[in-house]
Amino acid sequence: MRLTRSRGVAALFMTAAAAFDLQGHRGARGLAPENTLPAFARALAIGVTTLELDCAVTRDGVVVVAHDRRLNPDITRGPDGRWLDGPGPLIGSLDYAELVRYDVGRIRPGSGYGKRFPDQVPVDGARIPRLADVFALARRAGNDTVRFNIETKIDPTQPADTLGAEDFARALVKVVRAAGTARRTTIQSFDWRTLKVVQAKAPEIATVYLSAADTIPPGGADSPWTAGVHLRDHGSVPAMVKAAGGAIWSPPFGELAPALVAEAHRLGLAVIPWTVNAPADIERLLDFGVDGIISDYPDRARATLAARGIALPAPTPLEH
Ligand code: MG
Repeated sequence: MRLTRSRGVAALFMTAAAAFDLQGHRGARGLAPENTLPAFARALAIGVTTLELDCAVTRDGVVVVAHDRRLNPDITRGPDGRWLDGPGPLIGSLDYAELVRYDVGRIRPGSGYGKRFPDQVPVDGARIPRLADVFALARRAGNDTVRFNIETKIDPTQPADTLGAEDFARALVKVVRAAGTARRTTIQSFDWRTLKVVQAKAPEIATVYLSAADTIPPGGADSPWTAGVHLRDHGSVPAMVKAAGGAIWSPPFGELAPALVAEAHRLGLAVIPWTVNAPADIERLLDFGVDGIISDYPDRARATLAARGIALPAPTPLEH
């Protein structure tokens, strides 16, 4: 069988990452402010295979690292030092110079979000970084093997909030290529339209298919998230990923079961669930035979993997 170029690249990716893909979610959200340089530095110091991160594009076209389309009041203080009192402006409505006036180095004290991450050590003054800054950070750490799993934060039901799928994906690809990290990068999305663009325009970059019950309702209507690939036609999410030309499937870990992992593997897909934080869950998912784990606590995941004798990447702390 002739492999398409993108599938060939994905196969290479899977070979290179074959050991086990330990991914630090938003850097290491459980330990340091999400999607900030301190969080990525923390993950590099722990030793991860992959830095997982989310991206947005500013009004002036800068690809930045942030999870939410609007500034999130749970983690954002304005230029005046005060917490935002509700959802802030769209990142796409701000120039980069305006965006970096906001502080995202601490979770709002007393918030429900903060209670979920009691061990996160704040870094007051941390800013939303550019994607290019994350690549530069890894270089400064002397790490030229860490991978980058970069999510396009775009919602097909909210088209006015961001660039369209084509422009969003193109902006991201441009930054990845400029950094020379294409072969160490995967682009992931719940919005499979962006993955289609990447496959067409940048076949050297592997794609990752995110799913969740919210975006692919079981037994529900056709989803706007999956670029015309529908559950009713394929019967399961792994079969949808395969039909869409994917090689890597990233479901929420709570929706996984051994039979689904086995089905995905039969289809030739790697399975990398998110966001697995409790040691018992990490153990359970490893027992399912997953190919990687995305965790807010890469230190915990690493300890579990080490106890099983699984090969791990070297830590690369910045302080040396
Ligand atoms: Mg993400």
